[in-house]
Amino acid sequence: MAKSYDLIIVGAGMVGALSAILLAKSSLRVALIDKHDGQYTLSPPPAYDARVSAISSQSKSLLEQANVWQNIPQGRVATYDNIVAWDGLGAGYIDFNAGSASMVELGNLVENVVLSQQMMAQIQHSSNIDLYFNNALSSYQLSESGVQAELVSGDRIDAQVLIAADGAVSTLRTDNGFETVEWDYGHTAIAATIEIDQSHDNTAWQSFGEEGVLAFLPLPDVGERHFVSIVWCVPPADAKGLTALDDEAFCRRLHYAINRRFNVLGITRPRQTIPLRQRHAKSYVKSGIALIGDAAHTIHPLAGQGANLGFGDVKALVDVLSKAHRRGEPLGASKVLRRYQRARMLDNMAMAAGMEAFKRLFSTQQPLLVQLRNTGMKQFDRSQALKKKLIARAAGLSTFS
Ligand SMILES: Cc1cc2nc3c(=O)[nH]c(=O)nc-3n(C[C@H](O)[C@H](O)[C@H](O)COP(=O)(O)OP(=O)(O)OC[C@H]3O[C@@H](n4cnc5c(N)ncnc54)[C@H](O)[C@@H]3O)c2cc1C
Repeated sequence: MAKSYDLIIVGAGMVGALSAILLAKSSLRVALIDKHDGQYTLSPPPAYDARVSAISSQSKSLLEQANVWQNIPQGRVATYDNIVAWDGLGAGYIDFNAGSASMVELGNLVENVVLSQQMMAQIQHSSNIDLYFNNALSSYQLSESGVQAELVSGDRIDAQVLIAADGAVSTLRTDNGFETVEWDYGHTAIAATIEIDQSHDNTAWQSFGEEGVLAFLPLPDVGERHFVSIVWCVPPADAKGLTALDDEAFCRRLHYAINRRFNVLGITRPRQTIPLRQRHAKSYVKSGIALIGDAAHTIHPLAGQGANLGFGDVKALVDVLSKAHRRGEPLGASKVLRRYQRARMLDNMAMAAGMEAFKRLFSTQQPLLVQLRNTGMKQFDRSQALKKKLIARAAGLSTFS
């Protein structure tokens, strides 16, 4: 006998796990499947995990609704109330400040593993969610009236709708013929946790220059010691060179790449390299299936928005499906799922286009463009109205439209 659910979610990353919690809170029964075991171990500070996310205020409220944010252990969240960005090839400089946008903070930095661990704790408390971990779909049939699936474990399950939250290289997306628009960014990201010699001043520091795009993102201090998470995006050949350096030489390069603002004392968590690719599904839904999070779209991490967009998808999907459930509409019907797509696609595409333009503008070393870019940055820095608008967008408090 197959076990019946309202939804099957494949992928228990941050986006899939958060959707499971919020859908379950709306009285929907969820089967959550992941090929991993769902175990997350936190290393004690200062060995903060190399993968962190800047969380917008809209995402923070969603995580509060899910009872995740309030349960994050003390000392694992950093707040930033300033962003300082500059052009390493000129005098262009932008300083965003929470106060000038009438906000208390611009955002928070949290390790992904911390969020995932707290999400798993909530999931384990929910009687509406069954976990199928160390598992995957082995076969399934999709139709307007739902999905019947068999898992690698031999379990048989069915549901009204299948949610693909299986990340950037989603097999559900390719198996179901979702077309994408995609290209290589020509950048590889290097992520690591490093110790610096002075306070980060609750500021996200970002340099655009010959050395690529480099962010120093604040992490909680440990006693008198100061730490940041770095995301350094460089062409793949440069990434190879940087990865080959020993820790001491890598720290020296970082010191120059951040315009010597900080002395880099050491690395407390090994470097990770991640190739970056822009990808956007041309549609997010078909009868019986919806794509969310990185399965639907991936963007350059330079503005720290990928997971925030994914959480925006979660919010829209939960709104649409819980309303449809209350009205007794079939959750996998195209007309229901298209409401979710309508709510999200424009905003996600606008963010992707913005990141692409930004990346191109800051990749060029063509002197005239560099000069224009620096002039633009200076003018932008003087315009409080423009800055307020951009901050509201990054916080998820407004859309591009
Ligand atoms: C360097 C870097 C820095 C970033 N910084 C930020 C930031 O500051 N702020 C921000 O908002 N975003 C940031 N992002 C983006 C963010 O990390 C991603 O958007 C987010 O993690 C995507 O989450 P997801 O749950 O959609 O996908 P994933 O985290 O990839 O989760 C997918 C899950 O699906 C499972 N899975 C995959 N295939 C299968 C299968 N066939 N069967 C079963 N399970 C499967 C996987 O095991 C995994 O658990 C950054 C990205 C990078 C690369």
